[in-house]
Formats: sequence, C-alpha cells, structure tokens
Amino acid sequence: MVLIQRKMETTKKIVLIAHDNRKEDLLDWVKYNKGTLSKHHLSATGTTGKLIHEQIGLPVFRFISGPLGGDQQIGSKIVEDSIDFMVFFWDPLSAQPHDPDVKALLRIAVLYNIPMACNRSSADFLISSPLMDKEYNRQLIDYGSRIPAKN
Ligand code: PGA
Repeated sequence: MVLIQRKMETTKKIVLIAHDNRKEDLLDWVKYNKGTLSKHHLSATGTTGKLIHEQIGLPVFRFISGPLGGDQQIGSKIVEDSIDFMVFFWDPLSAQPHDPDVKALLRIAVLYNIPMACNRSSADFLISSPLMDKEYNRQLIDYGSRIPAKN
C-alpha cells in the first residue's frame, strides 16, 4: 500500500460547520474552547461563521452558506490541502436540501484522512489531543493505484 504524507503544522486550519438545529451546540462548544481555537486558523460555512464571529468574537473566514454550495467549497479545500481538521455538527434528525453535498463532504474528509468530529464528545477528544500543538504527518493512502489508468 503506497502512502502519501501531508504535514499538518502546529497551527491547524480548522473548519467549523453546523446545521441549523445543531448551531447552538456548536456555538456553546466554540465558546468553551475559545482560548484553544484562537491559536488556530478558523473557517466556517456562511451562517455558522457569522454566528461565531458575532457571538464569540473569533476571527473566522466564511465560505458560502452550506445549502448554497459551502460544503462543496470546503470539500475542494480539503482536496487542495487547505484544511486540516473539521468539526461538523450535522443534524441526524432532519433531511437537508443539500444532503448530497453533505455526503460528498463527509466522503472527501474520510478519503483525505482529515480528523473529523461530528458530535460534541468527539470534538472534545480531538481538541484536547496533544497532537493539536504539534506537527503531524497525515498519511494518505494512494488510492490512485486502485484506479485503472485511462488512455
Ligand atoms: P450554514 O451552513 O453555516 O451557512 O448554515 C451549514 C450547512 O447547512 O451546511
């Protein structure tokens, strides 16, 4: 199995996303972890980012709102190696108009071996990891070897 390394710096590029029914929980988590999160580069989907900035005061780069294509923008940033770490509180009880985009983003995050938390306890474990303050070599499987070459 061929592995490719992608280096994560000590300052992580963290993306934050929450569906509407999960925004309150994410905001509460961000508020609790404000000190730690302020040491990293934050980005978020449109509305989530706006709320984080307005209610908690952290600087956050805002992508387009999720239903308008933000999840797809974030997926492309993962592919380009511009995101290290994702906290995505998706709603397990409501269908979303952009369900295909959500599924695509979760797939890309797994494919690129991105640390990802989809609920609060996972987010707590990730953010309290000693690896948050260290460089880390993320190993990617070279799936290209499984895809037959096309002429
Ligand atoms: P929002 O997008 O932060 O713009 O609400 C989140 C989502 O639904 O993916």
